[in-house]
Amino acid sequence: MASMTAKEHISHEAGNEEAWVCICKNTPSDDGFCTCDAEGNEVEPDTRWTTGLYVCFGCGRMIDPKTLEVIGRNMRLAREIEERERVRSAELNAADKSGR
Ligand SMILES: [Zn+2]
Repeated sequence: MASMTAKEHISHEAGNEEAWVCICKNTPSDDGFCTCDAEGNEVEPDTRWTTGLYVCFGCGRMIDPKTLEVIGRNMRLAREIEERERVRSAELNAADKSGR
């Protein structure tokens, strides 16, 4: 039976399971990934890290490293990233205009 919502999975580069490629195209060498709590908030990978989950800094998706399944999304972080991207592209546009 097909479930109502198809589960999302991130991928990784061929031959390198550490080199994650998120659905948003983020990789460890771009914005990267971080250990997170059950809400997708960044935590240090010490005793506070009880979830075993990672959060993508490109989109806020929360990832189970064992299956690479997207198990949720930190919408607060997703909005922050969106806002940051918006500001960044506005600055790029402004720089573009003033440079010509
Ligand atoms: Zn992502």
